[in-house]
Amino acid sequence: MWKRPSSSSNFSRGLWKLLNTRSMSTSRLDASKLQVKRVAQRSEPKPSDELVFGKTFTDHMLTIEWTMDKGWDAPVIKPYGPISLDPASCVLHYAFELFEGLKAYRTEEGKVVLFRAEKNMERMNKSAARICLPGFDSEELIKLIGKLIEEDKHLVPKGQGYSLYIRPTMLGTTDGLGVGYPDKALLYVITSPVGPYYKTGFKAVRLLATDFATRAWPGGVGDKKLGANYAPCVLPQLQAAEKGYQQNLWLFGSEKYITEVGTMNVFFVFKDPKTGKKELVTAPLDGTILEGVTRDSILTLSRERLDPKEWEINERYYTIYEVAERSKKGELVEAFGSGTAVVVSPIKEIGWQGEDIQVPLLPGEQSGELTKTVASWISAIQYGKEQHDNWSRVVADVN
Ligand SMILES: *Cc1c(COP(=O)(O)O)cnc(C)c1O
Repeated sequence: MWKRPSSSSNFSRGLWKLLNTRSMSTSRLDASKLQVKRVAQRSEPKPSDELVFGKTFTDHMLTIEWTMDKGWDAPVIKPYGPISLDPASCVLHYAFELFEGLKAYRTEEGKVVLFRAEKNMERMNKSAARICLPGFDSEELIKLIGKLIEEDKHLVPKGQGYSLYIRPTMLGTTDGLGVGYPDKALLYVITSPVGPYYKTGFKAVRLLATDFATRAWPGGVGDKKLGANYAPCVLPQLQAAEKGYQQNLWLFGSEKYITEVGTMNVFFVFKDPKTGKKELVTAPLDGTILEGVTRDSILTLSRERLDPKEWEINERYYTIYEVAERSKKGELVEAFGSGTAVVVSPIKEIGWQGEDIQVPLLPGEQSGELTKTVASWISAIQYGKEQHDNWSRVVADVN
């Protein structure tokens, strides 16, 4: 077992200041300075059944430039379109890039609400700090995302499973081939109307337990949403696909710890044959696991709502060997991935050492019991049918 690496919040004060203010006279991100340049003509919403994930974008984008000397410039909402970069821009050579993914949902009352956006902003600041890009005031960026959605609110699709996917992105834009910390950056936000991941109900997936490639490692950056983490994971996914599996179940180390699945967190449910008690398990946040907002929401709701006499909820290390062994003994109950795009994704089989571990599903169905339950809990909150703490924030009204 490895030790949790020190987190980015352990930066020294001096370094923190260098990364975030760099000079006391620079401007902070300020939503009240927003300038809006609208499209000449608003587009019509596409028919909902033609929406392909991340292929359709709305009319406007938000852009904010940053320089080390001046800090954050005035935010601009302008027509969606190409950005121009110098070919020597540091993002193109050394991958100074990070992103976020969150969604806005249209409630039955016609309000557009963001789900736990402050968690994404907090994570975006951590990603930025790790690659020497500037920090920003989360609340100001949430306000600006709200204004962007307000401009394009007629394009937020209606109905269960439909939403507006929001993609905040930050790049280092310093021109020059020397490797160093960027003195120029661009933050932008684009939005994409999306349909349900599962159009006709759940479809359980087959995973290949993967130890021939490693997604993340101790002291690395697997817990940050850096673009550089994703490109190297596509080839292993193709290798899995060649063998008939949709995604990689990422293992780590000689112990073969289970970490994540594809670009999702992963949960397993086991049953203790002696007590009959069930255990919901996911890997601990040790620096190799992306700190999923869906993961956190599932843990929080499960701790609040599952009967502790029947359930244990644990963030702990567990291995593919444990899963294989407990499957043989009939103690494996169900398993699912979690992430913003899908909410939950049920698992039916795991290829490991030339055999398939069968993950139980409800009779005649494509998921387990808890998978369905957490999906309904989360969607009720996302679509405003239920309130939970301050997880929802109204940013526009379509009426
Ligand atoms: C984004 C992401 C997740 C899920 O995070 P959510 O906040 O729940 O969307 C999990 N793992 C990886 C590797 C990711 O990139």
